[in-house]
Amino acid sequence: MAPTPNETDPPWIGSDEQSSTDGGTPAKQARKPLGPIWLALALVVLGLAGYRIYAMLYLAPAATAQPVERLYLCSETHKTFNHTKEIGDEVPVHSPFSKKQTGYPCEPCYKTKKDNVYRDQPYYVTLNKYFDKDGPTVCPDCGREVVGHNPDPRPIHPDAPTTRRAAVSGGD
Ligand SMILES: [Zn+2]
Repeated sequence: MAPTPNETDPPWIGSDEQSSTDGGTPAKQARKPLGPIWLALALVVLGLAGYRIYAMLYLAPAATAQPVERLYLCSETHKTFNHTKEIGDEVPVHSPFSKKQTGYPCEPCYKTKKDNVYRDQPYYVTLNKYFDKDGPTVCPDCGREVVGHNPDPRPIHPDAPTTRRAAVSGGD
């Protein structure tokens, strides 16, 4: 009596030898070798997905922890310069203009004394909190309040300010 194909054997073991004795089910034989390949592919896909999740959770913060360059204002010369904040840095930082520790973070102010009229180049203002002063910071140029992450109030289209400017000056 010939041994019947064993159901408990893994499909990748002995499938070639059995094809001679067990000729009745070609469809079954054709499917068998694919099993481990799909299993391996599924494992690879799962592994890649797992790695991507791991990278998102643990590798991305390391990348965003890079020092960020930002704009500083020299309180003595009122000139701006870029400075990359490093660990241990304290405000005020060294200013290349005064050659002293007079560099403070600053906010751009685009406003002017007229409503809806804006500067092309911002006036830079250091917030009161950096000078240990209480109360809202007032822009020395336009007299309006400046806040952290000061919003840019200018219209998106470059043509808009000129039309508004004409309307405002006509109304004055
Ligand atoms: Zn201003």
